[in-house]
Amino acid sequence: PSVSGMEVEEKPDVTYDQIGGLDPQIVEVKETVELPLKHPELFEKIGIDPPKGILLYGPPGTGKTLLAKAVANETNATFIKIVASEFVKKYIGEGARLVREVFELAKEKAPAIIFIDEIDAVAAKRLKSSTSGDREVQRTLMQLLAELDGFESRGDIGIIGATNRPDILDPALLRPGRFDRFIEVPSPNEEGRKEILKIHTSKMSLSEEADIDLLATLTDGVSGADLKAICTEAGMFAIREGRDKVIVSDFMDAVEKIVGSEKDEEFIKE
Ligand code: ATP
Repeated sequence: PSVSGMEVEEKPDVTYDQIGGLDPQIVEVKETVELPLKHPELFEKIGIDPPKGILLYGPPGTGKTLLAKAVANETNATFIKIVASEFVKKYIGEGARLVREVFELAKEKAPAIIFIDEIDAVAAKRLKSSTSGDREVQRTLMQLLAELDGFESRGDIGIIGATNRPDILDPALLRPGRFDRFIEVPSPNEEGRKEILKIHTSKMSLSEEADIDLLATLTDGVSGADLKAICTEAGMFAIREGRDKVIVSDFMDAVEKIVGSEKDEEFIKE
Protein backbone atom coordinates (compact mmCIF):
# COMPACT_ATOMS: atom_id res chain seq x y z
CA PRO A 1 0.00 0.00 0.00
CA SER A 2 1.15 3.54 -0.54
CA VAL A 3 0.26 5.88 2.24
CA SER A 4 0.79 9.59 2.33
CA GLY A 5 1.92 11.02 5.62
CA MET A 6 4.63 8.45 5.78
CA GLU A 7 8.21 8.54 4.62
CA VAL A 8 9.86 5.40 3.31
CA GLU A 9 13.60 5.01 2.72
CA GLU A 10 14.93 1.71 1.43
CA LYS A 11 18.19 1.96 3.29
CA PRO A 12 19.04 5.28 4.92
CA ASP A 13 22.66 6.37 4.52
CA VAL A 14 23.18 7.42 8.15
CA THR A 15 25.85 5.45 9.99
CA TYR A 16 26.71 5.34 13.69
CA ASP A 17 29.93 7.28 13.18
CA GLN A 18 27.88 10.31 12.11
CA ILE A 19 26.27 10.44 15.55
CA GLY A 20 28.17 12.31 18.26
CA GLY A 21 28.00 12.04 22.02
CA LEU A 22 25.56 9.13 22.17
CA ASP A 23 27.79 6.09 22.65
CA PRO A 24 25.82 4.47 25.49
CA GLN A 25 22.57 5.00 23.56
CA ILE A 26 24.10 3.40 20.48
CA VAL A 27 25.11 0.34 22.52
CA GLU A 28 21.58 -0.01 23.87
CA VAL A 29 19.93 0.44 20.50
CA LYS A 30 22.24 -2.16 18.99
CA GLU A 31 21.35 -4.64 21.68
CA THR A 32 17.60 -4.11 21.65
CA VAL A 33 16.77 -3.40 18.01
CA GLU A 34 19.71 -4.51 15.95
CA LEU A 35 20.41 -7.85 17.54
CA PRO A 36 16.90 -9.30 16.98
CA LEU A 37 16.99 -8.12 13.38
CA LYS A 38 20.41 -9.59 12.72
CA HIS A 39 20.24 -12.73 14.85
CA PRO A 40 16.66 -13.81 15.55
CA GLU A 41 17.97 -17.35 16.11
CA LEU A 42 19.67 -16.29 19.34
CA PHE A 43 16.30 -15.47 20.84
CA GLU A 44 14.69 -18.57 19.45
CA LYS A 45 17.37 -20.81 20.88
CA ILE A 46 17.07 -19.33 24.32
CA GLY A 47 13.30 -19.34 24.03
CA ILE A 48 12.44 -15.73 24.67
CA ASP A 49 10.56 -13.19 22.58
CA PRO A 50 12.88 -10.56 21.17
CA PRO A 51 12.12 -6.99 22.19
CA LYS A 52 9.59 -5.42 19.83
CA GLY A 53 10.12 -1.79 20.40
CA ILE A 54 11.99 0.93 22.17
CA LEU A 55 11.14 4.46 23.02
CA LEU A 56 13.66 7.27 22.61
CA TYR A 57 12.97 10.35 24.65
CA GLY A 58 14.69 13.69 25.01
CA PRO A 59 14.68 17.28 23.77
CA PRO A 60 14.24 18.12 20.08
CA GLY A 61 17.18 17.86 17.72
CA THR A 62 19.33 15.55 19.80
CA GLY A 63 19.66 12.66 17.34
CA LYS A 64 16.66 10.38 17.85
CA THR A 65 15.89 10.18 14.16
CA LEU A 66 19.56 9.71 13.38
CA LEU A 67 19.75 6.73 15.75
CA ALA A 68 16.71 5.10 14.16
CA LYS A 69 18.11 5.62 10.68
CA ALA A 70 21.50 4.25 11.64
CA VAL A 71 19.89 1.01 12.89
CA ALA A 72 18.07 0.68 9.58
CA ASN A 73 21.31 1.26 7.71
CA GLU A 74 23.23 -1.27 9.78
CA THR A 75 20.58 -3.96 9.35
CA ASN A 76 19.75 -3.21 5.70
CA ALA A 77 16.22 -2.50 6.77
CA THR A 78 13.59 -0.33 5.17
CA PHE A 79 13.04 2.81 7.22
CA ILE A 80 9.39 3.78 7.59
CA LYS A 81 8.77 7.04 9.37
CA ILE A 82 5.48 8.50 10.47
CA VAL A 83 4.95 11.65 12.48
CA ALA A 84 2.12 10.92 14.86
CA SER A 85 1.13 14.55 15.37
CA GLU A 86 0.66 15.06 11.62
CA PHE A 87 -1.29 11.86 11.38
CA VAL A 88 -3.89 13.04 13.78
CA LYS A 89 -4.16 16.50 12.28
CA LYS A 90 -4.27 15.60 8.62
CA TYR A 91 -6.15 12.37 8.43
CA ILE A 92 -9.15 12.86 10.61
CA GLY A 93 -11.08 9.63 10.85
CA GLU A 94 -8.22 7.72 9.27
CA GLY A 95 -5.57 7.49 11.95
CA ALA A 96 -6.40 3.90 12.84
CA ARG A 97 -6.45 2.81 9.21
CA LEU A 98 -3.10 4.45 8.59
CA VAL A 99 -1.53 2.70 11.56
CA ARG A 100 -2.76 -0.60 10.16
CA GLU A 101 -1.32 0.21 6.76
CA VAL A 102 2.04 1.18 8.17
CA PHE A 103 2.36 -2.20 9.87
CA GLU A 104 1.23 -3.97 6.70
CA LEU A 105 3.84 -2.14 4.69
CA ALA A 106 6.51 -3.06 7.26
CA LYS A 107 5.63 -6.73 7.00
CA GLU A 108 5.82 -6.52 3.24
CA LYS A 109 9.18 -4.76 3.27
CA ALA A 110 10.72 -6.62 6.24
CA PRO A 111 13.31 -6.28 7.57
CA ALA A 112 11.96 -2.89 8.51
CA ILE A 113 12.19 -0.20 11.14
CA ILE A 114 9.00 1.68 11.95
CA PHE A 115 9.91 5.06 13.39
CA ILE A 116 7.02 6.89 15.08
CA ASP A 117 8.04 10.47 15.80
CA GLU A 118 6.14 12.66 18.28
CA ILE A 119 4.33 9.57 19.53
CA ASP A 120 2.89 11.56 22.45
CA ALA A 121 0.41 13.08 19.97
CA VAL A 122 -1.48 9.78 19.89
CA ALA A 123 -0.28 8.26 23.12
CA ALA A 124 -0.91 10.83 25.80
CA LYS A 125 -2.58 9.63 28.98
CA ARG A 126 -6.25 9.13 28.41
CA LEU A 127 -8.26 12.13 29.41
CA LYS A 128 -11.86 12.03 30.44
CA SER A 129 -12.89 14.76 28.06
CA SER A 130 -14.11 13.50 24.75
CA THR A 131 -14.34 15.88 21.90
CA SER A 132 -14.47 14.18 18.53
CA GLY A 133 -10.79 15.01 18.10
CA ASP A 134 -9.92 13.22 21.34
CA ARG A 135 -11.90 10.18 20.30
CA GLU A 136 -10.04 10.12 17.03
CA VAL A 137 -6.73 10.17 18.87
CA GLN A 138 -8.00 7.40 21.15
CA ARG A 139 -8.91 5.20 18.22
CA THR A 140 -5.50 5.73 16.70
CA LEU A 141 -3.80 4.77 19.94
CA MET A 142 -5.98 1.68 20.36
CA GLN A 143 -5.06 0.58 16.86
CA LEU A 144 -1.40 1.16 17.56
CA LEU A 145 -1.58 -0.93 20.73
CA ALA A 146 -3.47 -3.64 18.87
CA GLU A 147 -0.83 -3.75 16.15
CA LEU A 148 1.97 -3.88 18.72
CA ASP A 149 0.28 -6.75 20.55
CA GLY A 150 -0.80 -8.52 17.42
CA PHE A 151 2.32 -8.91 15.43
CA GLU A 152 4.35 -11.95 16.14
CA SER A 153 7.79 -10.53 16.71
CA ARG A 154 10.20 -12.58 14.72
CA GLY A 155 12.67 -9.80 15.16
CA ASP A 156 12.43 -8.65 11.57
CA ILE A 157 10.41 -5.54 12.39
CA GLY A 158 11.69 -3.08 14.95
CA ILE A 159 9.55 -0.28 16.31
CA ILE A 160 11.18 2.91 17.52
CA GLY A 161 9.03 5.60 19.07
CA ALA A 162 10.31 9.09 19.84
CA THR A 163 9.00 11.82 22.09
CA ASN A 164 9.97 15.02 23.86
CA ARG A 165 7.24 14.41 26.44
CA PRO A 166 7.70 11.03 28.11
CA ASP A 167 5.89 12.39 31.16
CA ILE A 168 2.51 12.51 29.41
CA LEU A 169 2.56 9.05 27.82
CA ASP A 170 -0.17 6.54 28.52
CA PRO A 171 1.31 3.79 30.71
CA ALA A 172 -0.48 1.26 28.48
CA LEU A 173 2.16 1.92 25.87
CA LEU A 174 4.94 0.96 28.19
CA ARG A 175 3.80 -2.53 29.07
CA PRO A 176 6.18 -5.38 28.24
CA GLY A 177 5.66 -6.63 24.72
CA ARG A 178 4.98 -3.12 23.52
CA PHE A 179 7.79 -0.65 24.08
CA ASP A 180 10.16 -2.77 26.10
CA ARG A 181 12.85 -0.22 26.66
CA PHE A 182 13.10 3.46 27.35
CA ILE A 183 16.25 5.18 26.22
CA GLU A 184 17.04 8.76 27.10
CA VAL A 185 18.64 10.87 24.40
CA PRO A 186 19.80 13.95 26.31
CA SER A 187 21.19 17.30 25.23
CA PRO A 188 24.89 16.86 24.55
CA ASN A 189 27.40 17.73 27.28
CA GLU A 190 30.67 19.44 26.41
CA GLU A 191 32.35 16.24 25.31
CA GLY A 192 29.32 15.34 23.20
CA ARG A 193 29.23 18.78 21.62
CA LYS A 194 32.89 18.42 20.72
CA GLU A 195 32.16 15.14 18.95
CA ILE A 196 29.15 16.55 17.14
CA LEU A 197 31.08 19.64 16.03
CA LYS A 198 33.91 17.43 14.78
CA ILE A 199 31.43 15.44 12.72
CA HIS A 200 29.82 18.49 11.15
CA THR A 201 33.11 20.32 10.49
CA SER A 202 34.94 17.29 9.14
CA LYS A 203 34.41 18.34 5.54
CA MET A 204 34.72 22.06 6.13
CA SER A 205 37.74 24.09 5.23
CA LEU A 206 38.79 25.54 8.57
CA SER A 207 41.53 28.02 9.35
CA GLU A 208 44.08 26.71 11.84
CA GLU A 209 42.93 28.93 14.64
CA ALA A 210 39.33 27.68 14.40
CA ASP A 211 39.08 25.95 17.74
CA ILE A 212 36.40 23.27 18.08
CA ASP A 213 37.16 22.68 21.77
CA LEU A 214 36.57 26.32 22.54
CA LEU A 215 33.38 26.31 20.51
CA ALA A 216 32.15 23.32 22.53
CA THR A 217 32.67 25.21 25.77
CA LEU A 218 30.70 28.18 24.45
CA THR A 219 27.63 26.25 23.37
CA ASP A 220 26.24 24.99 26.64
CA GLY A 221 22.64 23.78 26.23
CA VAL A 222 22.78 23.77 22.43
CA SER A 223 21.32 20.72 20.63
CA GLY A 224 22.98 18.64 17.93
CA ALA A 225 20.63 20.09 15.34
CA ASP A 226 21.63 23.63 16.34
CA LEU A 227 25.33 22.74 16.36
CA LYS A 228 24.93 21.60 12.80
CA ALA A 229 23.14 24.85 11.96
CA ILE A 230 26.00 26.80 13.57
CA CYS A 231 28.54 25.04 11.33
CA THR A 232 26.51 25.78 8.21
CA GLU A 233 26.02 29.38 9.22
CA ALA A 234 29.74 29.82 9.94
CA GLY A 235 30.43 28.57 6.42
CA MET A 236 27.94 31.10 5.06
CA PHE A 237 29.70 33.94 6.84
CA ALA A 238 33.02 32.89 5.30
CA ILE A 239 31.48 32.76 1.83
CA ARG A 240 29.90 36.17 2.25
CA GLU A 241 33.28 37.62 3.19
CA GLY A 242 34.91 36.00 0.21
CA ARG A 243 37.20 33.78 2.28
CA ASP A 244 38.00 30.17 1.44
CA LYS A 245 38.52 29.18 5.08
CA VAL A 246 36.22 29.46 8.04
CA ILE A 247 37.73 31.45 10.91
CA VAL A 248 36.94 31.68 14.61
CA SER A 249 34.89 34.84 14.30
CA ASP A 250 32.63 33.12 11.72
CA PHE A 251 31.77 30.53 14.33
CA MET A 252 31.23 33.19 16.97
CA ASP A 253 28.90 35.11 14.66
CA ALA A 254 27.09 31.87 13.86
CA VAL A 255 26.61 31.03 17.55
CA GLU A 256 25.25 34.51 18.11
CA LYS A 257 22.89 34.14 15.18
CA ILE A 258 21.57 30.62 15.94
CA VAL A 259 21.48 30.81 19.72
CA GLY A 260 20.42 34.46 19.66
CA SER A 261 17.53 33.86 17.28
CA GLU A 262 16.22 31.13 19.53
CA LYS A 263 16.25 33.49 22.46
CA ASP A 264 14.24 35.93 20.34
CA GLU A 265 11.70 33.24 19.52
CA GLU A 266 11.26 32.39 23.18
CA PHE A 267 10.79 36.06 23.86
CA ILE A 268 8.11 36.33 21.18
CA LYS A 269 6.31 33.26 22.47
CA GLU A 270 6.12 34.73 25.95
P1 ATP B 1 13.14 15.82 16.87
O1 ATP B 1 12.80 15.39 18.24
O2 ATP B 1 13.00 17.33 16.68
O3 ATP B 1 12.52 15.02 15.79
P2 ATP B 1 15.63 14.39 16.69
O4 ATP B 1 16.12 14.10 18.06
O5 ATP B 1 14.99 13.30 15.93
O6 ATP B 1 14.73 15.68 16.72
P3 ATP B 1 17.45 14.51 14.53
O7 ATP B 1 16.42 14.67 13.48
O8 ATP B 1 18.08 13.19 14.68
O9 ATP B 1 16.87 14.97 15.91
O10 ATP B 1 18.59 15.62 14.34
C1 ATP B 1 18.47 16.64 13.40
C2 ATP B 1 19.83 16.91 12.76
O11 ATP B 1 20.71 17.47 13.75
C3 ATP B 1 20.52 15.66 12.30
O12 ATP B 1 20.20 15.37 10.96
C4 ATP B 1 21.99 15.99 12.47
O13 ATP B 1 22.49 16.73 11.37
C5 ATP B 1 22.00 16.91 13.68
N1 ATP B 1 22.24 16.15 14.93
C6 ATP B 1 21.39 16.03 15.97
N2 ATP B 1 21.91 15.27 16.95
C7 ATP B 1 23.13 14.91 16.53
C8 ATP B 1 24.17 14.10 17.09
N3 ATP B 1 24.04 13.53 18.30
N4 ATP B 1 25.28 13.90 16.36
C9 ATP B 1 25.43 14.47 15.14
N5 ATP B 1 24.50 15.24 14.57
C10 ATP B 1 23.35 15.47 15.23
